[in-house]
Amino acid sequence: MNRTLPVLAAVLFLMNVPVWAEETAEEPVDLGMVTRIREEGLHHSQVMETARHLSDVLGPRLTGSPQLKAANEWIRQRLADWGLRNAHLEPYLFGRGWSFTRSAVHMLKPHQLPLSALPKAHTPGTAGPVRGTVLIAKLAKEEDFEAWRGKLAGKIVLLDEPVDLDHQGEEPEPREHTGETLRELGRFPVPADREPDGYKESSIERARFREALNRFLGEEKVLATINGSIRPWGVLRVGRGGPWTPGMSPGVPSVVVAAEQYNRLRRLVEAGQEVELEIEIEARFHDEDLMAYNTVAEIPGTDRGGEIVMAGAHLDSWHTGTGATDDAAGCAVVMEAVRILQALGVKPKRTIRVALWTGEEQGLFGSIAYVAEHFGSWSGPENPERRKWLSVHNWKGEGKLSLRPGHGKLSAYFNMDAGGGKIRGIYAEESAAVRPIFETWLAPLHDLGAGTVTLRRIGGTDHEAFLDVGLPGFQFIQDELDYMARTHHSNLDVYDHLQREDLVQASVVVASFLYHAAMRPERLPRPPLPGSNPSKP
Ligand SMILES: [Zn+2]
Repeated sequence: MNRTLPVLAAVLFLMNVPVWAEETAEEPVDLGMVTRIREEGLHHSQVMETARHLSDVLGPRLTGSPQLKAANEWIRQRLADWGLRNAHLEPYLFGRGWSFTRSAVHMLKPHQLPLSALPKAHTPGTAGPVRGTVLIAKLAKEEDFEAWRGKLAGKIVLLDEPVDLDHQGEEPEPREHTGETLRELGRFPVPADREPDGYKESSIERARFREALNRFLGEEKVLATINGSIRPWGVLRVGRGGPWTPGMSPGVPSVVVAAEQYNRLRRLVEAGQEVELEIEIEARFHDEDLMAYNTVAEIPGTDRGGEIVMAGAHLDSWHTGTGATDDAAGCAVVMEAVRILQALGVKPKRTIRVALWTGEEQGLFGSIAYVAEHFGSWSGPENPERRKWLSVHNWKGEGKLSLRPGHGKLSAYFNMDAGGGKIRGIYAEESAAVRPIFETWLAPLHDLGAGTVTLRRIGGTDHEAFLDVGLPGFQFIQDELDYMARTHHSNLDVYDHLQREDLVQASVVVASFLYHAAMRPERLPRPPLPGSNPSKP
């Protein structure tokens, strides 16, 4: 630790010379401990073994599936074997589980050809192999339904426009950050004037429409629906189909076909060819256990009256790859970070707690449930319709925020969920107070490639559950690799796309952040408590 500066500050104070406020005082860094963390993390890493087991052996881990429960248990045991304390599962109400065991889609006419296709999650299977002719039906809003009523029974319906293979949305991120891209990330763009962005209303609209479409397809006895993968080169990007909420319409068997094959099916149908497919999907809902589970364990603190620091990643994945980059990588890294600290026998002042979330892909359900149980939650919309369709991860500002006693005890939460790339820095979520602290912690890790602190915000994953109730939650900046372009939510999200060097590096960075957050004299600076807005009618 650097003891010189506090002493100097005290001398200046006694001489009546103004000193910096606490936030800008020199941040202590324990370089001896960083050395030991690097030694254990760089030379004795187990991170790839953990990542391999999570992805290859345990396989896809859809929330509610028996495989995810097995992964919960395996991690609990692993953390306990490493010597962490209080390793346990925390349940929360999720809904119906789902798994599939077989999927085959063949074109029979105009000629025979197996197609590259996989079922969407939470959609029903077929009763053995079923055959039907293919037609194109635009069912993009409820007003479209009437034109098709009575015409779709026994048919296989192509729902999407042709996939535009040239225009995949925004420019892809570079595989690895450069000095230039990191400098750009460090610049803070002045935001445009605030306009109501309507994202809550559009998400309610989408949820309502999904249910209406599933009901319509079921009533019309549609044999199956097909969407085109939105990624080219045969990548099958497959996510949710039907609902996990008991009592809602499960819809009909529903598959995603490779973009190039999907476009061909459309061209054939448009040219007036008779196209016949055979589809066989074996899938089932699991209603025996409506709970899902987070796995939690800790290194107990010795001081600081029950304060804690946390790191986490989501254990659940989509169902067609093995959830390697999304997010076995993040789980393996945060697990390795606490393994390193445990192996070094650290006695942190604050408790260091690790949490492997589930239900993230469906809407941050696991982390929100945990935060609600321990720290605080929004009461949500009072209007029952709005409450039904607005997902809980959009409840910030709906109703009242109530805090639990634990709210004051959490110093910081660090999240890993941006693929398997190396850590290049951290998002400071617009906290000017936290920036110099992170910059100091990163200083002895610059040579490993981690050095950027940006005040920008990043959303979309579990640290939001903490931010939404006014707690300091952070996500790391990582190299992109093939994440959004190929592996994210796709059948190619497998172990081969993880790089040992990157996960070893990331584990060292996370271990060092956890250690310094646990030992710091004060809690990390906190964001302002979000104000409560009256919920809209
Ligand atoms: Zn993820």
